[in-house]
Amino acid sequence: MSILKIIEYGNPILREKSKEVLKISKKIKTLVNDMLDTMYSANGVGLAGPQVGQNLRIFVIDVSDPKGPIDPMVFINPKIIKKSGAINSYEGCLSFVGAYTNVRRYSYVMVKALDLNGRPFIKEARDGSLLARAIQHEFDHLDGKLFIDHARNRFETDNILKKHNLPPVEVDKMLEEKELEDEIVAWEKAHPEDVQKQLEEIKEQQDQQEKN
Ligand SMILES: [Zn+2]
Repeated sequence: MSILKIIEYGNPILREKSKEVLKISKKIKTLVNDMLDTMYSANGVGLAGPQVGQNLRIFVIDVSDPKGPIDPMVFINPKIIKKSGAINSYEGCLSFVGAYTNVRRYSYVMVKALDLNGRPFIKEARDGSLLARAIQHEFDHLDGKLFIDHARNRFETDNILKKHNLPPVEVDKMLEEKELEDEIVAWEKAHPEDVQKQLEEIKEQQDQQEKN
């Protein structure tokens, strides 16, 4: 087991489309275990193949309470087979150290993938949970997409990237997602107290980061 170097934003590897895993060989199993080690050592909730320089359709996630036992999930050759609803998600990425921004996500996803033994499984994640958002975030990496492509506010995101000495958003990669945005705006209008609560949570997370 070893800790791998995490590729940073700006490296073209992150923009490449990853290839299917044809055989879950010993090499692939070692890679997955190293990815888990790397994710845990960086205190991340997810990590995808391209982030460790391997353009293979693999990602790992652990959304369990950091104080409790670990709950590693491995997704090989994943496919998102259902998605619905829209939410605002305040996200970061291990390839963008310290930079967090508001992005658009589906609130529900159903994903089909293979586990480390090559057995197919289906996972559902609802209500804009951390798992639902992490699955979409990591899945995107396999297609060369990044969370900032879903940014709700390009200029705000650019400022955040600049503050963390990262390259600016790639405007041609940005996704329009008008339907998602309309749904999020409508929800926010109807739930002002929840929006306020969300803002407070974000503020708290930011204070926490600055302390770290
Ligand atoms: Zn990421």
